[in-house]
Amino acid sequence: MTRHVIVIGAGIVGVSTAIWLQRAGAQVTIIDRAGPGKGTSHGNAGVLAACAVAPVTAPGLLTKAPVMLMHPDVPLYLRLSYLPRLLPWLAKYLSVANDTDTKRISAGLAPIVSDSIDQHKSLTADLGLSDWIADSDYVFAYRTRAAFDAEAYTWALRARAGFTPELIKGPAIRDYEPALGQDITLLATMKDHGFIRDPGGYVAALAQAFTQGGGTIMKAEVKDFDLTGGTVAAVQTDQGAVACDDIVLATGVWSKPLMAKLGLSIPLETERGYHIIFGDATGGPSRPTMIASGKFVATPMAQGLRCAGILEFGGLDARPSKAPL
Ligand SMILES: Cc1cc2nc3c(=O)[nH]c(=O)nc-3n(C[C@H](O)[C@H](O)[C@H](O)COP(=O)(O)OP(=O)(O)OC[C@H]3O[C@@H](n4cnc5c(N)ncnc54)[C@H](O)[C@@H]3O)c2cc1C
Repeated sequence: MTRHVIVIGAGIVGVSTAIWLQRAGAQVTIIDRAGPGKGTSHGNAGVLAACAVAPVTAPGLLTKAPVMLMHPDVPLYLRLSYLPRLLPWLAKYLSVANDTDTKRISAGLAPIVSDSIDQHKSLTADLGLSDWIADSDYVFAYRTRAAFDAEAYTWALRARAGFTPELIKGPAIRDYEPALGQDITLLATMKDHGFIRDPGGYVAALAQAFTQGGGTIMKAEVKDFDLTGGTVAAVQTDQGAVACDDIVLATGVWSKPLMAKLGLSIPLETERGYHIIFGDATGGPSRPTMIASGKFVATPMAQGLRCAGILEFGGLDARPSKAPL
């Protein structure tokens, strides 16, 4: 019997999960209140960041964070009005900013992300969408050698996962990437990475391939679940109930209230991020370049140069803050 699986959320996680379920023979319906690729999966830096095995919670964060929050040039922001709600989670978060937990988290991340380029290639190949994946280096640009050395712990974590950078210094920097100014004196380049030139468009193209393969996409807000004998028999939406055999919850940062309805209590918080697009920009970097001092990535995209990153704690509902921009 074909099982009917409902995937809630049409971001990159939901849509790619739906495609793999379809390949496994399930009848799949995706439900999203906004449509494919309109959430976080639209606004990111587009990097297929296989080497992203270093969590933010590195040793020393507890002492560094207050200084970072006070400094206007450090890309870490906190909405003070949100602090009371954040505190219980923040205490737990900071409690893992030690060597043992950081290495444990990093070892857990490695099998999830380190094959991401191959994963996107195997996702797209049979759908005729391989052109969406651009092979490239992933570059970290530093003003000084000292700034690179200050991140030695993070680089050691990446090396443990098999990612060791090639360093480029002096005039060779401009040969490699003419767009970079003289104040960049060291590049750490990661080979065999890749990026997406239009992350939202990519998810929309995957979603279209999913519907062409017989999948259904429904625009609705999921409100609740019908639980029978410990399994989900139907999903309750603002458009009515939809029966199912299984569900996949892929609602990203919005997952917490839905997980609560399923009896799951997960300590999930939002790391808000920002991007700016310099439309039709020319002469920018030709590959994703992490500007280390600003903790944002400059990526050449279909719409122009996108600078994306920054970390802000402020919950899900607040409007964009001026300071990060
Ligand atoms: C500034 C920034 C830069 C980033 N850069 C990178 C990068 O370069 N590389 C990288 O790998 N990652 C990057 N990320 C992270 C990456 O974008 C996210 O991890 C990823 O997009 C999450 O995908 P998702 O499918 O889980 O969630 P989302 O894309 O947010 O999708 C969740 C979907 O659920 C839907 N939804 C929520 N609640 C409901 C409901 N009740 N009913 C129906 N639908 C619902 C939403 O409408 C949304 O479409 C970045 C993030 C930010 C903010």
